[in-house]
Amino acid sequence: MIVVMKPDATPEQVQHVCEKVKELGLTPHVSKGVERTVIGIIGEEDKIRAKPLEVFPGVESVTPIQKPYKLASRHFKHEPTVIEMGNGATIGGKKVAVMAGPCSVEGRDMLINVAKEVHQAGALFLRGGAFKPRTSPYSFQGLGEEGLKLLREAADKEGMLVVTEVMDTRTVELVSRYADMLQIGARNMQNFDLLKEAGMSKKPVLLKRGLSATISELILSAEYLLAKGNFKVALCERGIRTFETATRNTIDINAIPVLKQETHLPVIVDPSHGTGKWEYVIPIARSAIAAGADGLMIEVHPNPEEALSDGPQSLIPKKFRRLMQEIRPIAEAVGRQV
Ligand code: PEP
Ligand code: MN
Repeated sequence: MIVVMKPDATPEQVQHVCEKVKELGLTPHVSKGVERTVIGIIGEEDKIRAKPLEVFPGVESVTPIQKPYKLASRHFKHEPTVIEMGNGATIGGKKVAVMAGPCSVEGRDMLINVAKEVHQAGALFLRGGAFKPRTSPYSFQGLGEEGLKLLREAADKEGMLVVTEVMDTRTVELVSRYADMLQIGARNMQNFDLLKEAGMSKKPVLLKRGLSATISELILSAEYLLAKGNFKVALCERGIRTFETATRNTIDINAIPVLKQETHLPVIVDPSHGTGKWEYVIPIARSAIAAGADGLMIEVHPNPEEALSDGPQSLIPKKFRRLMQEIRPIAEAVGRQV
């Protein structure tokens, strides 16, 4: 932590800051320049973060030098995390993890058909929402437990894994009974009670970036899961809100290398929610793999015209097959496999 004092700070004010720092068991290093004094503080920054040094008389600025996250950081664990999913599938390994399926679970036949299609094309994870976070309370809210049962059935038929959203602390246990991976959606990225509850479960978690969340905030949310002992966490870039209106959201491709550098956690990209338009899903999926993403989450629907949610961004199975073909040479070019 670097504390810069104002040019007119008095020696007493410098002394006051130093005393506070020592009280916390840390060591201040005072450096007197011609115009101003700078105090470097060595030690655990967490202790000092709790004190608002900015409001101390004579202080001009306070700059942390350590990252606010620990367990999620590359300093804590240098090797990339590979989540072993049980049936041989991994997230963060050499093979690109592909999660595909409808936005919402709508019914049995449709789900079984989509599972078969996406599995044949190479997806090992079946996605689908049974509890849907809809902007309007009048929109389809999901089939609830019935949807979870259908997901389990369809995935088991194909030997796939289920990834599905949990929206509420009260349903973590229920969703965990059916799912192989819990999804925490963009709208709940900072639902700290939900993060703590999911952190206490043994299930891997897919944590999606909030609509207006910074990368640092996303990592701090992951830190909640890790701090509760769950290290099986994958981060998901799903687009953020910007001034751009041509697409539903703006995919932050930068987030991929930043997250890979800052953390050891795998990074999944969701170009469906990231663009909101099926036409853009394949090119953005290609770019995500090129930028080093560990996996993709793709919405697939046999008849997008009739979809109960997110039809405009859903690929038909044929297009999904094309996506898989198109990402293969890119994955190979960056040392991955599809
Ligand atoms: C979803 O994946 O179904 C979903 C609702 O995504 P997000 O939370 O990213 O909006
Ligand atoms: Mn959706």
